[in-house]
Amino acid sequence: MFKAILIEKQDDAQRVSVQSLEESQLPAGDVTVRVECSTLNYKDALAITGKGPVVRQFPMVPGIDLAGTVEASSSEAFKPGDSVLLNGWGVGEGHWGGLAEKARLKGDWLIPLPAAFTASQAMAIGTAGYTAMLAVMALENSGVLPEHGDVLVTGASGGVGSYSIALLSKLGYRVIAATGRPEEEAYLKGLGADEILDRGELSEPGKPLARERWAGAIDSVGSHTLANVLAGTRYGGCVAACGLAQGMELPATVAPFILRGVTLAGIDSVMRPRADRLEAWRRLGELLEPAQLEAITRTIGLEEAVDTAEELLAGRVRGRVVVSMA
Ligand code: NDP
Repeated sequence: MFKAILIEKQDDAQRVSVQSLEESQLPAGDVTVRVECSTLNYKDALAITGKGPVVRQFPMVPGIDLAGTVEASSSEAFKPGDSVLLNGWGVGEGHWGGLAEKARLKGDWLIPLPAAFTASQAMAIGTAGYTAMLAVMALENSGVLPEHGDVLVTGASGGVGSYSIALLSKLGYRVIAATGRPEEEAYLKGLGADEILDRGELSEPGKPLARERWAGAIDSVGSHTLANVLAGTRYGGCVAACGLAQGMELPATVAPFILRGVTLAGIDSVMRPRADRLEAWRRLGELLEPAQLEAITRTIGLEEAVDTAEELLAGRVRGRVVVSMA
């Protein structure tokens, strides 16, 4: 038997509880993992609360991230005892996920746990940190360098935002952090933010073009915020769009693209090819320090994850939450 969060649906009503399940109930897969840690991402919170259409079949074990040890494997790539990491691939959405003591998965979805991190540290980073790294790589690929000007990070106190600040700062960029939580100024500056911007300046409908304020941006907010971020991007700059915390719509004009040559780079972490994942995790290992992971993260047990999902969607969680199975 193993413990898991189970999301069930009956007559359109969703029920979420921690249950003891039989190993025989695990879905098909060639690798069985003893999960040490998982985490709570925005998407997991949507799945657990039922506030977003994340879960594609029921019953579902949520959890888009996990780290643990291989217990059994018929995959050539992994053997019992190997430490592994998983992010995305629809796990926790269409295939049972990481918020459980055990998971059975396709070996192709797993990567070796990076040597730089313990399972708990890798989950402190999780999809949020890995997505932040992909977004930073998109800015680099588009030619946005520290000497070109400031980089704006929206949703700054959240998971993607916190890691974006830490990574950009380590790489020498001057970072502006847009937040709705002015009380988190010391936290954000501790991560490496140089300037704090009230997110209210970006969240209402704005002009097609505004004063050129940043050379690049990492946006996890979408909606009017992303439109205003594009409008304030300097000539030739790049905006990496990761999320939709304000909304899915993009009420913008083409003006920043056709008059300022701005690039809008879309970031998807879920189906990202393996080579990019390995590169992103290699760079995370180079750039992040254990003390930063501790500052960004708090650890909870499986039982607390359901209530914490509500808190996360209410914008009351700072940084990241690791869910430990210990
Ligand atoms: P968090 O909840 O940790 O962070 C989101 C942050 O956005 C909040 O902390 C808050 O920051 C800000 N925010 C929340 N609501 C609003 C609002 N109405 N208007 C403006 N800002 C708001 O989530 P994550 O960091 O885990 O994820 C952020 C987004 O990125 C989500 O939409 C998620 O789905 C998406 N995502 C996408 C991925 C991909 O592959 N593309 C991967 C991972 C995440 P503050 O309080 O500082 O203002």
